[in-house]
Amino acid sequence: MYNIVLFGPPGAGKGTQSEKLIEKYGLTHLSTGDLFRKHLGEGTALGELAKKYMNEGRLVPDEVVIGMVEEKISESKNTKGFIFDGFPRTTAQAKALDEMLEKHGMSISGMIALDVPEKELKERIKERGKTSGRVDDQDEEKINTRIKVYLEETLPVAAYYESQGKFTKINGVGSIEGIFNDISQVIDSY
Ligand code: AMP
Repeated sequence: MYNIVLFGPPGAGKGTQSEKLIEKYGLTHLSTGDLFRKHLGEGTALGELAKKYMNEGRLVPDEVVIGMVEEKISESKNTKGFIFDGFPRTTAQAKALDEMLEKHGMSISGMIALDVPEKELKERIKERGKTSGRVDDQDEEKINTRIKVYLEETLPVAAYYESQGKFTKINGVGSIEGIFNDISQVIDSY
């Protein structure tokens, strides 16, 4: 069983690589951004709550995110493992994830971080904004907020896994296939 945290700033390619990884390894994709967008689309109370944070590029409060992830993990019986994409984004979320997994007799195999320079991230997000329909992909100020939030609140999560000897950084610039091979090699070494 693999439980992988795919890590990186907005626009690093986590969603793209997750899709390929779930296919190759038969894992369950758990993207908190996708889950929130689903709630938004369905007009649930959770979606309503998350909306204002998402539209501004700020983080949804930890307890809301953690509750949603807990539900998804509990629902996913008999899985071969998870790819966590866009989660955990704070150290509190990382600690909560460890506790949740332990309750289910699981643990994190490792964190794989995609390294992409800021200039390239902004270009990729703007390009994605042309087709994604995401409010937070289309406005320069929101994109800047998301990158700032990543640097200030999310980057410490890497140190959390590094201190457990579970951190690997990968060059996130290059061909999708090349990056996928690099990630696969790390997973195969777990
Ligand atoms: P993403 O699709 O991962 O870029 O997430 C889109 C937005 O959803 C983020 O900018 C946050 O507002 C919210 N979000 C997604 N995942 C989390 C998380 N783990 N913690 C807090 N907010 C999140």
